[in-house]
Amino acid sequence: MAQGILEEVLMNTALVEDLAEVAKDEALLQGVVMRTRETPNSSELVTYAPLTLFPTSVPKAVFLQALAVQTHYNTLVDRISQDSDFLKEALASTIEVDDFTARLFRIYQQILKEGRSQSIVLGLNRSDYMLDQRDDGTSSLKQIEINTIAASFGGLSSRTPDVHRHVLKVAGRFEESQRILDNNPAAGLAQGIAKAWELYGSERLDFINQRNLYGRLISLSMCFRNIRSIRRRFDDVSRTGSLDQDKRLFIDGLEVAVVYFRNGYMPQNYTTEKSWDVRLMMERSQAVKCPDISTHLAGTKKVQQVLARPGVLEKFFPDQPQAVELIRATFAGLYTLDMGPEGDKTVAMALAEPDRFVLKPQREGGGNNIYGSEICQVLEAVKDSTERTAYILMDKIHPAPVHNYLLRRDAPLKMSTCLSELGVFGAYVRRGEDMVMNECVGHLLRTKSSEHSDGGVAAGVAVLDNPLLI
Ligand code: ADP
Ligand code: MG
Repeated sequence: MAQGILEEVLMNTALVEDLAEVAKDEALLQGVVMRTRETPNSSELVTYAPLTLFPTSVPKAVFLQALAVQTHYNTLVDRISQDSDFLKEALASTIEVDDFTARLFRIYQQILKEGRSQSIVLGLNRSDYMLDQRDDGTSSLKQIEINTIAASFGGLSSRTPDVHRHVLKVAGRFEESQRILDNNPAAGLAQGIAKAWELYGSERLDFINQRNLYGRLISLSMCFRNIRSIRRRFDDVSRTGSLDQDKRLFIDGLEVAVVYFRNGYMPQNYTTEKSWDVRLMMERSQAVKCPDISTHLAGTKKVQQVLARPGVLEKFFPDQPQAVELIRATFAGLYTLDMGPEGDKTVAMALAEPDRFVLKPQREGGGNNIYGSEICQVLEAVKDSTERTAYILMDKIHPAPVHNYLLRRDAPLKMSTCLSELGVFGAYVRRGEDMVMNECVGHLLRTKSSEHSDGGVAAGVAVLDNPLLI
């Protein structure tokens, strides 16, 4: 167990109980709130967004490394999205067996056939990492995955630093409170959206994302720029959206400049055939899509695995060995399950030592990965058929567990052994060949009890946190 610098405070039960109330109160004051599961569409009843009582120590060098590599990751995702031969080859085996990826891919092929109607690209990414503990006690930054639909916690994580600062001050830990960094991903993500909007070229256009409270801070930032923002579901767009003969997108009679997809990354998001029709309509439109279908595919786990093969990064950065080095340093071991000797080797390796790995299907949103003995069950069932190509295998990362309290509505206050995941936000805008903006715009630390192997904040497993640099 890593000894957190706040261990002494953590053990003081009476103080912890007081601080938990202080933290919840401060969360409400700072707007770290969310709607409830029981009344998800009500603005009458909200609660604090789940968060840790204390920030979590993160080595400064590793934190800075994660920030430094982000613009390269932005470039990488963007370059992959423009390389149709690469995407076709990388995803060939996956789309044979994974219906969801296959449907996304069909939209992609349709767009390739028709030609893109928009040369402006907006990317809002979050690259997620865990700190793998080395034998010598130091830790190394290892990427879990990259998300191309990931702006949501940008809003809340802009407000959580003040909550932890306040808690630490009340606890008498003034010095530590000053070591919590400012963080404002919402501003940087909004800047990307605003840039794309501006390039689209009109003052009376609208930005749309889908109905979700987390979009709120971003919407607010948009208002300052006098950009109107509306939130719509696929269903709504199906009823009131259309393209004109120039493929301009109209929703409720308003021309839309930028579409930010708040969801669309899980099969459940496409409730009917109409949802798929609407996704295709928006992809065809002149509106700037974030992500567009090719960028969405660039963010799949299969692509992540292919990138780890020798020589592939070099292809995307032919003259930038330093960028290759920075990115590759964050890769964990990733292994193909394609049919053939290499995939057979992966199967044998996983069956021999399942606890060393995570088996991942092509899914997003938490709760899909397979661990431990279940890896053997699944692989035994699919190892001789192409079904196995729906998965990739990844080295399991082992972060050092630390003690903290996870504050979650109606949950008893108890000390938990926790693991953290650090996300770094990137925003970029490209017009044709020109990268107009490419920035690292903030971070997100999420922490969960170590008994859960999977799942994020939205899945109800992880909670919001802040790094305390050491
Ligand atoms: P999703 O798209 O569902 O978010 P992730 O790849 O982020 O998929 O995995 C979900 C969760 O599973 C992560 O947040 C992390 O807690 C855990 N996880 C994923 N990959 C690994 C890994 N290689 N080692 C340890 N834990 C992992
Ligand atoms: Mg994830």
